[in-house]
Amino acid sequence: MNHPRRPGTGASVASGHLQVVSTPIGNLADLSPRAREALAGADLIACEDTRHTGLLLSRLGIKTRLVSYHEHNERQRLPSLLSALAGGQTVALVSDAGTPLVSDPGFLLVREAVAQGAKVEAIPGPSAVLAALVVSALPPLPFTFAGFSPPRPGKRRTFFTRLAALGHTIVFYESPYRVAASLGDAAATFGERPAVVARELTKLHEEVRRGTLGELAAAFEGESVRGELVVVVGPAVDARDAGADELELPEGEREEDARRQRRSRRLAG
Ligand code: SAM
Repeated sequence: MNHPRRPGTGASVASGHLQVVSTPIGNLADLSPRAREALAGADLIACEDTRHTGLLLSRLGIKTRLVSYHEHNERQRLPSLLSALAGGQTVALVSDAGTPLVSDPGFLLVREAVAQGAKVEAIPGPSAVLAALVVSALPPLPFTFAGFSPPRPGKRRTFFTRLAALGHTIVFYESPYRVAASLGDAAATFGERPAVVARELTKLHEEVRRGTLGELAAAFEGESVRGELVVVVGPAVDARDAGADELELPEGEREEDARRQRRSRRLAG
């Protein structure tokens, strides 16, 4: 059994635990030193695709054993991963890209690991949700992440209608094959809200397109879109006309949020 040093503390880990490790969404340089250390030090790595993660490990010169853990075998694999944890092993959980559990497998494992008393630790890093939100120039708070939009138009409209009622900035994942249709449906349900399509973030062909939902739907219509993308939809207020102070939380809530931030910094020492 391998007892790695816990990254960042220098302390030895006395019993096994589950590490939820974020990996790059395109740019290998985004892998944190702590993530590398966790992958190298784990007894085994549960990953969506052993070939995909195998390639990452070979680039890093890491030889940790890989075990496939994807949406189709999540339940079957669970007992052996839980017993590895119970036996004191350190299990690293990764997905193909970004942060596990975020539209990726892992929730079941984390939930059951916690239920059986295992220690669960995040090794945070890239995720397309936050990368898209922070380049969107749309109000970052409050925001709702909705995962992938449904592929069928009927369900997609219902999905957008529910999200529109929140009045938040909305972030969702979309397939490049459906982006024009999806933006068209979003325009029909949300109305003409400001939006952003963030494509191939952190990669060579990174592109961030801005406009209203209708403008973006028209721009993508008939285009053969490639790569991975995230859609961010701003709240109903027209972000281009409003003053900066209207773009975030309402005044009372902003003050309350700032108070909470100050308090939590004080408590954190
Ligand atoms: N767990 C990942 C994360 O934390 O971002 C997301 C996994 S989900 C299966 C894959 C989706 O994330 C893609 O279809 C796309 O919507 C989005 N995505 C992943 N990488 C991206 C990138 N480099 N640029 C834009 N969107 C990306």
